[in-house]
Amino acid sequence: MPPKTCTFDCIYCQLGRTAKKVSKPEELKTTVTVEKIMEDLEKTLESTPLESIDHVTFSGSGEPTLNLQLGEMIDHVKNIVGSSKPVVVLTNASLVCRKDVRANLAEADLVIAKLDAPTQHLFESINRPAENLKLTSVVKGLRALRRETFGRLALQMMFLKSATDKNTNHQYATVKRLAEIASSIDPDEVQINTPTRPPSREDVTPLHLSEIKEISRIMTEVLPRVRILAKGNHGQMKERKKKDSVLETEILGLLKRRPCRLVDLAEAFGVNEGNVKFYINKLVASGGVTSVRLHGEIYYETVR
Ligand code: SF4
Repeated sequence: MPPKTCTFDCIYCQLGRTAKKVSKPEELKTTVTVEKIMEDLEKTLESTPLESIDHVTFSGSGEPTLNLQLGEMIDHVKNIVGSSKPVVVLTNASLVCRKDVRANLAEADLVIAKLDAPTQHLFESINRPAENLKLTSVVKGLRALRRETFGRLALQMMFLKSATDKNTNHQYATVKRLAEIASSIDPDEVQINTPTRPPSREDVTPLHLSEIKEISRIMTEVLPRVRILAKGNHGQMKERKKKDSVLETEILGLLKRRPCRLVDLAEAFGVNEGNVKFYINKLVASGGVTSVRLHGEIYYETVR
């Protein structure tokens, strides 16, 4: 897995600090090729039946829109998986002010775009963007994306607290302003999250459920026609049947990308926690995976 390459260095990032922070695609010397993505997808489909896939998501170890071949990749993926499997892109929205990036995103069925802060000051303290990235350009770009594309648009907001910094994004006035900005973008959905995995900065802590509910209430008040999805009501997971050897490889693959709890792995693969525990024990015994404790929860990650 290459080191995380991103335009942001979010204080809550589950992938740790950004090893390579860039402000535009042109700063990258090498990127993942279309051929590599197709090769990986075809390999995955050899062991995973197409019927068991709900959708294909582009996220990556960093920001996927930094790759200007993203639109071409989405086209190829659609040719392979067919039109009944929606293609989703998770983006931090830092580059949506660019026409070429919006053209690539227009190929997706659903774009899930990050929006955590209503002011440049909070944008800089939470997302720690690369130099010259402005929140006003992000918001303008999201409005343009909404106007120009036919796919669905969801805004994903991460609300958090900090043990050392009182000025985060969960206070009433900040949430209200964020909701008003969201309303000006006119998304199909707003997703409200709080960090549940080990964050990049240790003082970052998640919100309580009651605080998430209050944020949800404010969002609903300002955006009455928009679907508001808060942590905990994302619906039932689908039970998925997998070959054992495939499950072990996929667990390891996911842990290489980010630390997870047993419950996260069980949800990700649609299997029960007991089943996941069996493979985690095997991976820990072989020395490839280790555990860390955070906020009273046990997370598993690969040994680097
Ligand atoms: S959370 Fe996403 S946008 Fe933020 S630093 Fe991590 S990979 Fe980049």
